Amino acid sequence: MTYAYYHNVLKQSAPEKAPTYRKEEKWVCSVCGYVYDGDDFENEPDDYVCPVCGAKKDMFKLQ
Ligand SMILES: [Zn+2]
Repeated sequence: MTYAYYHNVLKQSAPEKAPTYRKEEKWVCSVCGYVYDGDDFENEPDDYVCPVCGAKKDMFKLQ
């Protein structure tokens, strides 16, 4: 077998060491620190406001 094949097999059988980064986006209100807990911030309507302080959607920052 070729080195490349060996290398690939080795890679595949090696335990995943890298932490699994799920798409974990947190939208946080930059005014009051409220963390958006809905499903999809980007699909909220443009008139969405922070339920805590009423800041507009564009005051939220992705963290
Ligand atoms: Zn807020």
